[in-house]
This record gives sequence, C-alpha cells and structure tokens, in this order.
Amino acid sequence: MSQLRVLIAEDDPVSSRILQAHLSKWGYQVVVTTNGLDAWAVLQGSDAPKLAVLDWMMPSMDGPEVIRRLRQDSKEYVYVILLTARSQKEDMLAGLEAGADDYLSKPFDAHELKARIRTGRRILDLQTQLMTVQTLLREEATHDPLTKTWNRSGILDILQRECARAARSEGSVGVVMADLDHFKPVNDTYGHMTGDEVLREMSRRMAASVRAYDSIGRYGGEEFVIVLPDCGALSAFQRAETLREDISNKPVEATSVSVAVTASLGVAAMDQVDCQDYEVLLRAADAALYRSKAAGRNQTTLATPQEISMLSAVIGQGKA
Ligand code: GH3
Ligand code: MG
Ligand code: MG
Ligand code: MG
Repeated sequence: MSQLRVLIAEDDPVSSRILQAHLSKWGYQVVVTTNGLDAWAVLQGSDAPKLAVLDWMMPSMDGPEVIRRLRQDSKEYVYVILLTARSQKEDMLAGLEAGADDYLSKPFDAHELKARIRTGRRILDLQTQLMTVQTLLREEATHDPLTKTWNRSGILDILQRECARAARSEGSVGVVMADLDHFKPVNDTYGHMTGDEVLREMSRRMAASVRAYDSIGRYGGEEFVIVLPDCGALSAFQRAETLREDISNKPVEATSVSVAVTASLGVAAMDQVDCQDYEVLLRAADAALYRSKAAGRNQTTLATPQEISMLSAVIGQGKA
C-alpha cells in the first residue's frame, strides 16, 4: 500500500494515540489535530488528506459541523469516518445525515477500524478512477485525436462564447480560417502517414505562433479555425499573416521526406460591421479564404464589410 494521508481529529489523548499507532502500523501517514477548527484548516490546506477520522465531540467545532462545511465547498472528496462515544441509533443517523461516510463507536475495535479505513480507501480509489475516465472522455469529446487541437464542436463553442463576451463588453473577436494548399498531392505522393505528420506539425507551428489566449481547432480535414479574442480586423489580419509565414517558412521534416507547405487564410472580425453572429463571421472568413485560393494561394484575405453584411442578411433570414 502506498502512503495515504489520513487526518485524525480527536481531543481525547488516549483515543488519539491508539488511532495514530494503528494507522501508522498499517502504513498510513497520519496528520493529527485535537480540535475541529484545526481539522478544518488542515482539510482546507494544499495537499489535504482525502480520508479523515473525526471525533464527534471536540473543542471549537464538532465533527458534524466540520463535515457540513466540507460538503458545502470542498472540491476534492474527503471520505469521513465519524467517531462517537454515543451509541444511540439516532445519533449515528444524525452523523450520517451531516454527511459522514461511515461511523465508529468508541471504544473501537482495531479490526473494525482497519476494515472501515479500507472501505474508505476503496471508495476513494474508485472515485479517482471515475474522475480520470471523466477527464479523458471530456478531452475526447472536445479535441481532435490527430492534432490535439480543439475539434469542430470544441472550437465552435469557444468562438460562440468569445463572440458573446465581446458583444457584452463592446470588444471584438477575430476569426481566421486556414486551409493547407494542395494537400491532396502530399497524401498522393508521400502517403497518408506523411500527410498526418504534416498536419501535426502544422498544428504545432500554429500553436507556437498565436498568443496563449487564442484557440486553434481542426474544422475539417486540413482546415483549421483560429479564434482571436480582443482582435479587430487590422490586428486579426496581421496575426493571420504571421500565422501564414510561420506555417510556410520552412519545409516540414517528416520521417522520410521533407515537405514544403503553404496555407491560404481568410479573416473576418466583429468590429468590421459590428457583427455579433459567430456563424456569420465564420462564413465570412470562409468566403475570404476562398478568395485567397482563387487569387493563387499562400496568402491572407480579409472579408469585406459588404461580404459580412450580405452573409448576415442571408443567415439572419434563415434563422427568422
Ligand atoms: P486546395 O489548395 O484547394 O485546398 O487543395 P487541397 O488538395 O488541399 O484540397 P482538397 O480539399 O482537394 O484535399 C484535401 C485533402 O486533405 C484530401 C484528403 O486526403 C486530405 N485529408 C483530409 N483529412 C486528412 C487526414 O486526417 N490525414 C491526411 N493525411 N490527409 C487528410
Ligand atoms: Mg471528543
Ligand atoms: Mg486544402
Ligand atoms: Mg480543405
């Protein structure tokens, strides 16, 4: 067993010493307090024990009160065993109602203590496993497995949120759409694996190029959306140009070949016509991207205000 930290809060020195002796012997690392307030402080601290044995009657704050506070605002679950000299059934129920996970009557039996601590430990382990799975699932639901950037729905959520925020604060958001040029021939010539390597390297270059609070998402095969908070048209365009240069300034060194790549970009920003609809901005950036392609690729184009207004009217009509 690895060393799990256990908090003991017990004002009776004899009982406390017995608890310490048993728990240490069983391989637990023990933190000892003698009153409720100190116990609460320990549980609030960094790297707090996840398992606590709390006495019911203690100076400054009783066990059930510590538990109530814990259940109110603790982020990490703490498994609590309440110690009680009372043996009435009603008392035990009241302790459990306060949020205790288990209880133990004093004087306690060492085997019983051991079994209850082990149960607590098992539940904490299960909880950790569940949290890990949950985190993984959340990551999978919002990220692209190949490039580790946001996936389509992830980046659209961010764009939507940033547009709403900017609308409230009368700020702006810039949206960039970037599509790799002539990427199909890369796959056709060097194979899909090399294509994948190029996509991963592109994502790395883009991530290194933007600011920490910008977001990158894979919108489709070799098409990316970049959300630039607090950017008006001019700065969004400049950032997109920097992105384009950072993407194409040197060939991608794939496992077996060196591949030169360029990208075409389209940009639209909220302040251009005071457009607050994220869908309109996205479509406007896409229209501008299309013009970059038509004009010969490896360039950045800013959507025109007319383009945005027109799309706004069309999309607005569709929503009405
Ligand atoms: P353009 O300059 O007009 O954008 O030309 P293009 O060849 O990049 O555009 P097209 O849309 O014809 O081709 C996109 C290619 O991207 C086709 C597809 O094989 C490739 N692609 C899409 N997703 C992936 C992927 O996950 N891995 C790899 N290796 N290739 C992909
Ligand atoms: Mg006591
Ligand atoms: Mg392409
Ligand atoms: Mg494409």
